Amino acid sequence: MSDFDVAVVGAGLAGLSAARALSAAGRSVAVLEATDRVGGRTLNHSFADGTIVELGGQWVGPTQDRLYALAAELGVEHYPTWDEGDNLLQRDGRLVRYRGESFGLPAHVLADLGLAQWRIDRLAGSIPLEAPWSARRADRLDSETVASWLRRNVRTSLGRAFLRVVVEAVFSAEPEDISMLHFLFYLRSGGSLDLLTRTGSGAQESRFVGGSQEISVRLADRLGDAVRLECPVRSIAQDRELKQQTEESLKRMLTESRIDADVEVSVHSDFSGIDETIQGVSRKADVVFLGLAEPETGAEEVYADRLNSLMGNLPTVILVRHAGRFAGKLLLEE
Ligand SMILES: Cc1cc2nc3c(=O)[nH]c(=O)nc-3n(C[C@H](O)[C@H](O)[C@H](O)COP(=O)(O)OP(=O)(O)OC[C@H]3O[C@@H](n4cnc5c(N)ncnc54)[C@H](O)[C@@H]3O)c2cc1C
Repeated sequence: MSDFDVAVVGAGLAGLSAARALSAAGRSVAVLEATDRVGGRTLNHSFADGTIVELGGQWVGPTQDRLYALAAELGVEHYPTWDEGDNLLQRDGRLVRYRGESFGLPAHVLADLGLAQWRIDRLAGSIPLEAPWSARRADRLDSETVASWLRRNVRTSLGRAFLRVVVEAVFSAEPEDISMLHFLFYLRSGGSLDLLTRTGSGAQESRFVGGSQEISVRLADRLGDAVRLECPVRSIAQDRELKQQTEESLKRMLTESRIDADVEVSVHSDFSGIDETIQGVSRKADVVFLGLAEPETGAEEVYADRLNSLMGNLPTVILVRHAGRFAGKLLLEE
């Protein structure tokens, strides 16, 4: 693997946009994508006649100004979502046909929903977008699910059932699985519950010509070889920082012990081929300090075998207990 200024994990819209910005700022970038395609949670599917439907994200609307701007820059046009005619709501196995915004629900249920929506929007309005965890009573909101909040705050069973459908439609998840704090944060970032559920002038306002995945496909085309598919990132090590800290610790220790020696530190997080690497970098050394992440309980024997094989042909070795950083605690000397 070559050297880059920045490695971006994932070729979804976020990763590709980040890579585009970094590349425009003159940085060398690699986008490492685990799967064999770009787009992440946006995925086009073509029917035999060439019509494209989306199997993930598909709509764009007010508040998503950056996505509109990005699509325009890439030449991906959008068109209004079809929103004419009657609306249909399936309720208790019955299909209800309605026009306007009554949702085909009785007046007392609409009143119940109106009150719940007012409460939800008022709570959402108090969530700071940059730091939702600092909201008033954030802990309490985060330890409650949307389902339990609805049970406590929506009086009619039809109102609760209706809001369940709304939550499932917006989040592709069940109210039992969503924290109230996240729900409110999401509503705040999308404007309001009303805006997120609307078609005209709402989150379902427009769709992209050629499907939403086309935006990622074009971003990736522009990034060219920087996008690497089937490259799952299995671990991330802040090698440079660890290397620097370790170097400083070792030098300090040597100075305090009045030992005059050169120090070279090598940090590796990838265990494949580690034996050869360690043998290689240690060949010229008089003393090798070796730190290896501590074993999980039950894996002590494997750990000992690993150490033995690593130390095979090395000169004098001092094992260092590894505590996330260089701890300088000597265990044994050979
Ligand atoms: C059914 C559905 C409907 C949706 N509808 C809409 C909608 O209408 N409008 C809307 O705006 N949004 C919608 N969304 C949400 C929208 O699709 C997502 O918010 C958006 O695509 C997320 O982009 P992302 O880049 O943040 O993450 P993702 O698209 O999830 O991209 C993350 C990428 O990282 C890769 N990755 C993960 N781990 C690793 C690893 N260790 N190594 C390498 N690669 C890795 C993944 O394979 C993936 O390609 C919908 C989502 C779903 C699922």
